[in-house]
Amino acid sequence: MSDGGEFALIDWIRRRAATTGPGVAVGIGDDCAVLTPSRDGELLLTTDMLMDGRHFRLREDGPRAVGYKCLAVNLSDIAAMAGRPLAAFAAVALPLRESTAVAQGLIDGMLPLAERHGVTLAGGDTNAWDGPLVVAITVLGTSEEGPPVLRSGARPGDVVLVTGPLGGSLDSGRHLRPSPRIEEARELRRYATIRAMIDISDGLSSDLAHILDASGGLGATLDAVEIPIHPDASRASQRDGRSPLDHALNDGEDFELCLVLSPEDADRLATAPIAGVELRRVGRIEAEGGLRLREGGRVLPLAAGGFDHFHGA
Ligand code: ADP
Ligand code: MG
Repeated sequence: MSDGGEFALIDWIRRRAATTGPGVAVGIGDDCAVLTPSRDGELLLTTDMLMDGRHFRLREDGPRAVGYKCLAVNLSDIAAMAGRPLAAFAAVALPLRESTAVAQGLIDGMLPLAERHGVTLAGGDTNAWDGPLVVAITVLGTSEEGPPVLRSGARPGDVVLVTGPLGGSLDSGRHLRPSPRIEEARELRRYATIRAMIDISDGLSSDLAHILDASGGLGATLDAVEIPIHPDASRASQRDGRSPLDHALNDGEDFELCLVLSPEDADRLATAPIAGVELRRVGRIEAEGGLRLREGGRVLPLAAGGFDHFHGA
């Protein structure tokens, strides 16, 4: 992209994005953003890079959908720590052809989502090249309402829960439109001690396995009848013959949260649900390592079979 093109584009972005916001004193336009996060709590920082052909298909999905997804998956990581996102930074490698239109579409896809969650697009970098679109987003957040929720706090006897139905998101295109569970996680921690949490990007079986590993090599048994199966999983099942349950357990990119609560907290939230926070109990943490599935009265080992990446290789 020529310098004139780049500067005109950055000007365009700057006119659209808020230049200040909560925790952001100086946004787009200077050499650095200036952040003023609260002195309480810790800073959270996350980066995810998404590539055309791997995490999205620019030609089919369009730049707006891609922009939305790229920001949403980063916000989902902040949600997984029960944090509050403040500022986002977007570094883009644009394909030379239609670079300005692609960049503008990306920003148009991101900004409404950023606004919804009180996040300021506070900077980035813009390049163009003779290659496919690559978008790297960094989000800075804070953890003011309590310590960040790590993956490592699960204990035997704890309950495993998820925040929504799972499976089939890659087939249906739902992977492009995740709702980062930021408010849900912050609300949850006001009513319970979240012992461990992760967002489901690789699939429930793989992501729960990360919690088990991080918590010192624990295990878990999932209850087949309790797994909330998304209608997309049934559609995917008709296409490929794998069961809807298999899709719900192993597909990636649902971006729901998988969390672990004490049995007391789980019982309390079951009797007094939090408005707007869907919670489904799916299993239990156990001292014996490994993942298991209880199905029709039998308990069998479950391989952590989530996809590593988009249309997993
Ligand atoms: P520098 O050369 O000093 O890094 P740039 O010309 O790259 O400055 O960027 C100018 C301003 O525009 C900076 O504040 C930068 O953060 C912002 N910016 C550049 N590209 C983007 C983008 N894609 N999204 C948001 N902000 C951007
Ligand atoms: Mg720069």
